[in-house]
Amino acid sequence: MNTFEDRLAQVGAKGLHASDIEMIQVNLGLKCNQECVHCHVNASPHRDEMMTWPVMERIVIVARKARPRLVDLTGGSPELNKHFRRFVEALHGEGHTVQVRTNLTVLLEPDMETMPEFLKEHRIQLVGSMPCYLEENVCAQRGQGAYAKSIAALKLLNSLGYGIDSGLVLNLIYNPAGPILPPGQADLEADYRRELGERFGIGFSNLLTIANMPIGRFGGTLEEQGQLDRYMELLRDSFNPCTVEGLMCRHQLSVGWDGRLYDCDFNLALGLTVDHGAPDHIEHFDLTGLAQRRVVTGDHCFGCTAGQGSSCGGALASNT
Ligand code: SF4
Ligand code: SF4
Repeated sequence: MNTFEDRLAQVGAKGLHASDIEMIQVNLGLKCNQECVHCHVNASPHRDEMMTWPVMERIVIVARKARPRLVDLTGGSPELNKHFRRFVEALHGEGHTVQVRTNLTVLLEPDMETMPEFLKEHRIQLVGSMPCYLEENVCAQRGQGAYAKSIAALKLLNSLGYGIDSGLVLNLIYNPAGPILPPGQADLEADYRRELGERFGIGFSNLLTIANMPIGRFGGTLEEQGQLDRYMELLRDSFNPCTVEGLMCRHQLSVGWDGRLYDCDFNLALGLTVDHGAPDHIEHFDLTGLAQRRVVTGDHCFGCTAGQGSSCGGALASNT
C-alpha cells in the first residue's frame, strides 16, 4: 500500500485493477523534434531509443488477439520512427482503428511532406498537442517558433479535411502552463473554438484537457523551483473518487519502445513495468493475465484523480 492506495481504500477500493484492454498504447521511441518543458518522458532530438520492427510485428500479433477499440501511437514523435508507415499500414490492414499523438510541428520537418496525406489515406485519428491558443504560452512550453508551426500544421490538416470532416478526427490536447489543475474541459473547448476560429479559421474535433504529471522534465523543473511539494499537495487535496472508474490504466496497456509493458505512459516514464504476477514484456503477452491485472501505483497517480481527472483521452469527470 502507498499513499494513493490508502486514499483509494477510503473510498472502498482495495488497490487498483484493470477491467479490460480497450486501448493498446504504443510508444514508438523517445526521439522528438521538440524538447518541451512539461514533457513527462524526457523526449528530445538527442534521444535515440526507438522501437524496432520485430517488436512492432509482435504488437500486430497481440492486437490481432486482443482486438482493442483503439491502437494509440505515441512517443517522442511517433512519426520519426523509420518503421512508422509500415507499422501503420500493418495495423490498418488488420482493421484496427489507429490514433497518432502528434506534436503537429513535426509535420513541417524535412521528409514529412507526404505524411499528412499518408495519415488521411489510412483514416488515422489525430491528437495534436496545442497547450494554448495564445502564442506566448505555447512558445513558453514548447520553444520559440512552436506556435507558428503548430498553426501552419493545423491549417494544413484542415485543408485535408482533418477536424472538418466527421471521419477525419483531429482532437487537440491542452495542458496547463504550470503547477495548476486544468480548467473545465467544455468551457475551454469553447474558448479554443472561438479563438482559433476567429484568428485563423482553424477547426478541430474536440479539446482534451490533461493535467501535468509531477514526473519527468516537469517534475524536475518543479523540484528545482521548490514547487513540487506544493503541487503534490494540490493533487492530493483535489482527489475526486468519480475519476477512479475511468482511469486509463484500468482500460489500456502501454507498450514501451523496447517491448516492455506498462499500466500507462506515466508508469512507462518512471520505468515501472506491470507487476503483481502479470507478464511484463510483449513477448509474453497473455490477455487474461493482463486484462484483469492489478495496477502498479504511486504518488504520481494523484495527477490522474485530481479535480475533473486526467487521462490520454482528457477529463474523466465533470468539473468539480
Ligand atoms: S511533450 Fe511531446 S512534443 Fe514535447 S518533447 Fe515531449 S514528446 Fe516531444
Ligand atoms: S498514473 Fe497511470 S497507474 Fe497511476 S492512476 Fe494514472 S493511469 Fe493509473
